[in-house]
Amino acid sequence: MHCLNPEIFTYNLIKKQIMSFKTLGCLKCGSSYDVIPPDGVYTEPRSKLDDPPGDFVEMKKECISCKNKNTIYWYKPEIKQ
Ligand SMILES: [Zn+2]
Repeated sequence: MHCLNPEIFTYNLIKKQIMSFKTLGCLKCGSSYDVIPPDGVYTEPRSKLDDPPGDFVEMKKECISCKNKNTIYWYKPEIKQ
């Protein structure tokens, strides 16, 4: 069946975007903040780089509480077998 109900489709899309929110803690003051992955590929946030760094997308996010600029490294989720 390829007959999609547009309302359900939009709902699922919004739901998916909300679900993809990640809550992280500020490295300086510990306040939590929400971040959205840059895309559907790099969805695993890390506060530190891997060693070796590998493939990632870097994002800066200013903490609302202490103005510390946190760096988030988005990785591809590991494929679980
Ligand atoms: Zn902070």
